[in-house]
Amino acid sequence: MSNDRQARCAVCLGAQPCGCAENGGALALPVREALLSWYLEHARSLPWRGELDPYRIWVSEVMLQQTRVGAVLERYERFLERFPSLAALARAPESAVLEAWAGLGYYRRAQKLQQAARVCVQRHGGQVPADPRAFAALPGVGSYTVGAVQSIAFDAPLPAVDGNVIRVLSRLLCLEQPPAKAAVRRVIERVARCSVEAVAREQQRPTGDWNQALMELGAQRCTPRAPRCEACPLAPWCRARARGCAEALPRRTARAERPEVALAVACAVRDARVLVVRRPPGGLLAGTWGLPAAAGPPEVLESAFGLRPGRELVRWRHVFSHRVWNARALLCTVVGTPPRGAWWPLAELRTERFPSAFRPAVQALADALAVP
Ligand code: SF4
Ligand SMILES: [Zn+2]
Repeated sequence: MSNDRQARCAVCLGAQPCGCAENGGALALPVREALLSWYLEHARSLPWRGELDPYRIWVSEVMLQQTRVGAVLERYERFLERFPSLAALARAPESAVLEAWAGLGYYRRAQKLQQAARVCVQRHGGQVPADPRAFAALPGVGSYTVGAVQSIAFDAPLPAVDGNVIRVLSRLLCLEQPPAKAAVRRVIERVARCSVEAVAREQQRPTGDWNQALMELGAQRCTPRAPRCEACPLAPWCRARARGCAEALPRRTARAERPEVALAVACAVRDARVLVVRRPPGGLLAGTWGLPAAAGPPEVLESAFGLRPGRELVRWRHVFSHRVWNARALLCTVVGTPPRGAWWPLAELRTERFPSAFRPAVQALADALAVP
């Protein structure tokens, strides 16, 4: 016999199985109360928590998508010092925005954020629109960003479903199919939407607190590996915990293989300057500054850039979401017409100016040339 009955249903509070997982509905009031009181007591203090300025909230949400909190912590304040308002972000050159984004990855987010800032300046008086539909129409703003920013900044009753929320709800309701399936995704979205609407209707807390509480539970307790169920406020209603299958959920669909690309990276140095080029628009790391690089063995650098490869400095592997670079960096001499780019003084060679994918090369070059 299954010991499901140890857990009450999180939606109807009845004995399981009751069908709530399939039909969806708001998490019951005591469940919401338990999560909200836990959140008020245990939320980590982060620089964007308690923030009231919608622009700063937006920046934090964009940075946090697909990036670790630790990496964001190092860059959030610095980015906002450089671009303290939508207007400042809108008028900055794109290259300055990408440079401030270095290390966060997924550079298209930064480009879209800046495009959106420009639209806000042109059409919304330099403000973040408080109307979810107007906000959703901005470049790069998907349904997660709409829900997160509009609920946290304006108390809108909209869900914000990220990977944390998918994991928490998959476990709480014990959804056995992968959330990549549309039907499963719909159940999760429906429970999230009904729950945030109930929080708003019953005026429990601002909806932004509720959305953040669900995400925070996923970050602190309901973690991908080794969830801390014994310290989880939702344990009395958690079906996956009762069944002992929490860690196996959410189910994953087989991941497509990432192609491995051999990449030659050029470190061309002349008069105490190093050659950097802008990555072409549209591709990987589009628009960011990097070292000249081409797929293939080192010799391709000569035909591609007029750079003759010499001593190898370092080899490394960089994993992107859809591709892996097996890279090697080589000291190069200019033999043809070098590509259009810029020669940055070696004294300014700091790894933070480059996307993470190039840092091992930059570091090795700095070491080889003993740049302080
Ligand atoms: S009881 Fe465990 S599996 Fe269930 S929501 Fe809490 S941490 Fe996640
Ligand atoms: Zn139920």
